[in-house]
Amino acid sequence: MSHIAYVNGRYVPQQHAQVHIEDRGYQFADGVYEVVYLWKGCPVDYAAHIQRLGRSLEELEIPPPMSWGALTSIIKEVVRRNRIVQGIVYLQINRGVAARNHAYSRTLRPSLIITVKHGTGPSEKVANRGVKVVSAADIRWARRDIKSVALLPNILAKQKAADAKAFEAVLHTPEGIVTEASASNVWIVAKDKTLVTHPATKDILGGVTRATILKLARASGYKVTERPFSVKEMRAAKEVFLTGTTTFVMPVVQIDQHTVANGAPGEFALDLRNRYTHYMNSGNPETAWNV
Ligand code: PLP
Repeated sequence: MSHIAYVNGRYVPQQHAQVHIEDRGYQFADGVYEVVYLWKGCPVDYAAHIQRLGRSLEELEIPPPMSWGALTSIIKEVVRRNRIVQGIVYLQINRGVAARNHAYSRTLRPSLIITVKHGTGPSEKVANRGVKVVSAADIRWARRDIKSVALLPNILAKQKAADAKAFEAVLHTPEGIVTEASASNVWIVAKDKTLVTHPATKDILGGVTRATILKLARASGYKVTERPFSVKEMRAAKEVFLTGTTTFVMPVVQIDQHTVANGAPGEFALDLRNRYTHYMNSGNPETAWNV
C-alpha cells in the first residue's frame, strides 16, 4: 500500500507529494513541526503537542493554518487512510510561499504537511540493555524552546552519534552544562537519588515526554529537581536516561568512553519506562484527540 500524505489541502500518494520551491520552509527552514506517537491507535499527549505547536507558531509569528479542530480531523484522516495503529504522525507548518526574501510578509498562507509512519518504538531489548551516547558541543541558536525545522546542529550531532554507533548525542554548552540530546531530553539520578533534568528554559526544547515523566515521577514519590547539571556530574551519576516521543524512556549505560555506574540500565529509568508504558496503555480513544 502506498503511503498517503496530506499536503496543502490534498491527500496525495507520498511518492508524488510535492512542495513549492519557494516555500520558505524549503529555502529558510522557516517553519515548525511536531511528532506525535500513536500507541494502539491513541495519540500520546496529543493536547500537549498541539499546545507546543501553537506556542512555536506564535513565537515565530506564523498564523495557524486552520483551527485545531480542523487540523485534528485531517490528522485523523491521514491516520485512517494509512491504517496506522502504531507509529508516528509528523506534521510541519511553514510560513508559506513567497519570492525569496529574508523578511516576511504577515499575510502569507502557511503550508501544512502531514505524514504518518508505522513503527513500534524503541525495542524492549534495546532498553533493557541500555544505550551508548556521545557528547557533542551544543552549537544551536538561543531559542531552542521553539520546535523549529532548522535542525542542522541536531543532525550533525546525531551523525556524530551514528558514526560512533551510539544511540544519541548529548549536547553541552562551552561551560560544560548538559542542555539536552539531539532529539531527546537528558536526565540523571544524582548521588542523593534525586532525579535531575535541565529546567524548561529557552535553552532546551521542553519535551512533552519530559513533562509527562516529571508528572509520573512526582506522583510516584520520586524526588525531582529541574536544575542544570554538568557533563562531569552526568558521568558520575547513579543513572542517566533519555526521554522523548519516539524514545520513551531510554537508559544510558555509556557516555563516550565512560561507563555509567555499573554499566547496566538503572532501576529508576526502568521503573519510569514501565510507568510510561502503563500511561500510554491508559490512553482513551474517546478523549485522546481532544485539544
Ligand atoms: N529535545 C529535542 C532537541 C528534540 O528534538 C526532542 C524531540 O524531538 C525532544 C527534546 C523530546 O521532546 P518530546 O518529548 O516532545 O518528543
